[in-house]
Amino acid sequence: PRPHPTFRVRPLTCTETRRGDQQVVHSLGDGAVHVSAARHDATFGFSAVFDAGASQEAVFEGSGMRQLVELAMDGFSCTVFAFGQTGSGKTYTLMGPLAQSEAQPASPALLGLMQRSFTCLLEQSRSRGSDLALSASYLEIYNEQVRDLLSPGPPCALPLRWSKTRGFYVENQLSVEFESLEAIVSLLLQGSQRRRTSAHALNRHSSRSHALLTVHIRSRAHHPPTLVLQASACPSKHGTLCFVDLAGSERVKETGSRGELSVEANSINRSLLALGHCISLLAKPRGKRTHIPYRDSKLTRLLARSLGGSGITLMVACISPSSRCLSETLSTLHYASRARRVTTRP
Ligand code: ADP
Ligand code: MG
Repeated sequence: PRPHPTFRVRPLTCTETRRGDQQVVHSLGDGAVHVSAARHDATFGFSAVFDAGASQEAVFEGSGMRQLVELAMDGFSCTVFAFGQTGSGKTYTLMGPLAQSEAQPASPALLGLMQRSFTCLLEQSRSRGSDLALSASYLEIYNEQVRDLLSPGPPCALPLRWSKTRGFYVENQLSVEFESLEAIVSLLLQGSQRRRTSAHALNRHSSRSHALLTVHIRSRAHHPPTLVLQASACPSKHGTLCFVDLAGSERVKETGSRGELSVEANSINRSLLALGHCISLLAKPRGKRTHIPYRDSKLTRLLARSLGGSGITLMVACISPSSRCLSETLSTLHYASRARRVTTRP
């Protein structure tokens, strides 16, 4: 089984229930999602649909995330990206309800796709007995600037370059080796906090940036002792597993926002539009494809390899069931239906 486009409807939140929002999105089973509201009545089909009752574990197993981890271990470039409007459950799906304080870590049952993937990766690497080198990098794209979330000190912008052998890459990006679950989870927390710290200075910063955590998996074949000297001549595999928490997809009204906020809004819209554009071009039959404009945004440059030819992508569309979110929900559903048609040749 391959990872397949996944759709997740979160439960209504307490606030939504309290103010009497209607639930307008329902899962009909068998991958069908039904949207019913006053003037809308539509059904969309997906490979996997999870509704309010679905556990984090069910999403991990049912989305094909486990296979994606295994493919990354086999040397493929794998990406999972969560998208949807602010508050639709992207971060919850990827990381769970992140420990609000260090004294109160989230319960294991609520851990998200990321922690579950790390566990799976470390277990697999032990059981395969192969010689794996694991490292992680974590960055965010904010206002079309790439920032390292792992390097100490105030975040500074890193240049994004292109080379024939590497494709697009971030120069001077920190990559930290890890060997245990504790170590990688602590990197995730550190990075996410750096992302969150800025939220005090800038309104709702966390949903205004795209965050990408990439795990690099370098494996070397085992060699009998006599061959050790030649080991460096043997090809080694390099797989990647990238988790993308996209900025909220809601359209920021051009009029309402000025100055800093309008710069933010424009860069988010620009990269999400660029992503949508690349996806719709990629969704065309191979023969009819034109040039794919990856260069239109930093986000699409960084995702070029996984979206295009050689990567494997798991897309998780997150939505709120509330009547108040209807128009964004419909746009997420359309976006997801388009992305569903993208095929790659890993
Ligand atoms: P986003 O990252 O898309 O902006 P969040 O992941 O922060 O949204 O989710 C918004 C709120 O909804 C949070 O309080 C989160 O805990 C809650 N939530 C999201 N998804 C679920 C879910 N599947 N089950 C329970 N609560 C959820
Ligand atoms: Mg979020």
